[in-house]
Amino acid sequence: MRLVIFGPPGVGKGTQASRIAERFGIAHISTGDTLRQTIRSGSPLGVELRGYLDKGLLAPDSLVADIIERRLIEPDCRPGFILDGFPRTIGQAHTLDALLKKRRLLLDATFFLDADDDVIVRRISGRRVCPHCGRSYHVEFAPPRVTGICDADGEDLEQRPDDQPGSVRKRLQVYTEETAPLREYFANEGLLVPIDGTRSVDEVANAIVAHIERYIVGSAH
Ligand code: AMP
Repeated sequence: MRLVIFGPPGVGKGTQASRIAERFGIAHISTGDTLRQTIRSGSPLGVELRGYLDKGLLAPDSLVADIIERRLIEPDCRPGFILDGFPRTIGQAHTLDALLKKRRLLLDATFFLDADDDVIVRRISGRRVCPHCGRSYHVEFAPPRVTGICDADGEDLEQRPDDQPGSVRKRLQVYTEETAPLREYFANEGLLVPIDGTRSVDEVANAIVAHIERYIVGSAH
């Protein structure tokens, strides 16, 4: 099963992708998480990447394509994968097409999670992440057991630098200009599955699972 999830920043792509990956035993591939890990490593590349991410700008295409190409051949991708944060531009969609064609693979669906800007800003401003394991929380909708502390490893939670208001505005602009056109692109491919991202985490997950179980699980490829 090969899936893509996309939509505006902060709409809940990561949360949903990790649920779907766990439920169906497929790999969760998040370019954002991989880039943040590289930044945490403190390597020269990480320092360069920080300049893009903190400002809400897209990382260079070649670098992101390289991440995806290496990741798709890892064994955990054999049963399938859900791409979270890639493709983010029409150019990246063409790159993905070429990578899949090379392996004679097809996408099964692209889930488009949508929500209005006011919902997004509320979700992003309450988001907190663990700098150690990357787990994501929300002060209002998904708080940790102890305020400000990661349930998994006891680290102090932080706000992503790109979740600060200035970067959020930039990310929304980049989304509108670069990523939103993917809706039409995937609709033309017959792959677009629009999902109302304003509903609760469970309701959104149920809508995605219902589509997968109805149209994908048990199908030929
Ligand atoms: P995310 O965790 O998906 O919200 O991604 C966080 C940030 O990582 C984005 O704002 C970009 O700076 C960078 N990023 C993630 N995925 C991509 C991509 N496919 N292409 C370029 N930059 C990306």
